[in-house]
Amino acid sequence: MIQTSIKAFKDQLSAPLTKQQITTLQINLGKRCNLACKHCHVEAGPKRTEELSPEICQQLIEVINKFPQIQTVDLTGGAPEMNYGFKPLVEAARRANKQVIVRSNLTIYFVPGFEDLPEYCAKHQTKIVASLPCYLEDNVDKMRGKGVYNDSIAAIQILNRLGYGKDANLVLDLVYNPPIPNSEKFALTPDQKKLEQDYKSYLQKHFGIVFNNLYTITNLPIGRTKFQLEHKKLHKPYLQFLESNFNAGTVEHLMCRNELSIDYLGNVYDCDFNQMENLPARTCSGEKLTVAKLLEAGTLDLIEEIKTAPYCYGCTAGSGSSCGGALV
Ligand code: SF4
Ligand code: SF4
Repeated sequence: MIQTSIKAFKDQLSAPLTKQQITTLQINLGKRCNLACKHCHVEAGPKRTEELSPEICQQLIEVINKFPQIQTVDLTGGAPEMNYGFKPLVEAARRANKQVIVRSNLTIYFVPGFEDLPEYCAKHQTKIVASLPCYLEDNVDKMRGKGVYNDSIAAIQILNRLGYGKDANLVLDLVYNPPIPNSEKFALTPDQKKLEQDYKSYLQKHFGIVFNNLYTITNLPIGRTKFQLEHKKLHKPYLQFLESNFNAGTVEHLMCRNELSIDYLGNVYDCDFNQMENLPARTCSGEKLTVAKLLEAGTLDLIEEIKTAPYCYGCTAGSGSSCGGALV
């Protein structure tokens, strides 16, 4: 039943949401992107200019080298490949034996100056996590812009030729985002395994494409998604829908528990969503953190309680949602 008011997310939990040991560094390199998708929570696009500086990039390389507990360096944006620091960070993280994830929109491979990216990623064995919000052309082009579907398919074919999706060291995962709701008939993301099978059989049959895993990601009501929901007077009803589907079993798996999210200025957040909503992580003494402060303190584990907000219900509804897909 739809409720009339939304309970604070922290009151929904049986205990405060605390950090575990940090094992993932997710770096948002900046807001430059060759696309400007309707659902983009980063509000990225070709006209944005904000990106990492050489100074912050160098500090991040120091963090990568200094803390063996970091297992994964997850590069996002914007189109991370377009923003300053992409290649230096990939190379530093691979030299330090970390898994590197590149969150790619795939169409960047066809932008002049970026055509070497598939070979570059294969050479450095980066995992590629690519958005393909549907396996049908119409739905993708409506969300991301005309021609994006065909470019994405062509890009995956290039990656497959290089061994992505086939070689154990060249992992290619795809991401499904549901369309932004148009009415109060909200739905949870479909079953991840079942949808993965549908994607795999359709893409194999029509394009000979293979990939490893599909992640289903819930649209959190922030950024452009929030703007569109507000425009349709659906923001509060959507939050209520997410709240009414709260699943306590997702909480221990939330991605914010063991990651730090870093912005292009070197500020630290509990996750990329908090970064976009300007909700910085804080130490138990209330201090905001930066990459420079982490280096100075000599530890990554300075945050006790994770900052939460109503949109956290998007991560905990149904099977849960994270940058790695469903949680349970
Ligand atoms: S969703 Fe991804 S590809 Fe689309 S504008 Fe945002 S950052 Fe760029
Ligand atoms: S938005 Fe999701 S990942 Fe971020 S703090 Fe809330 S629950 Fe954690």
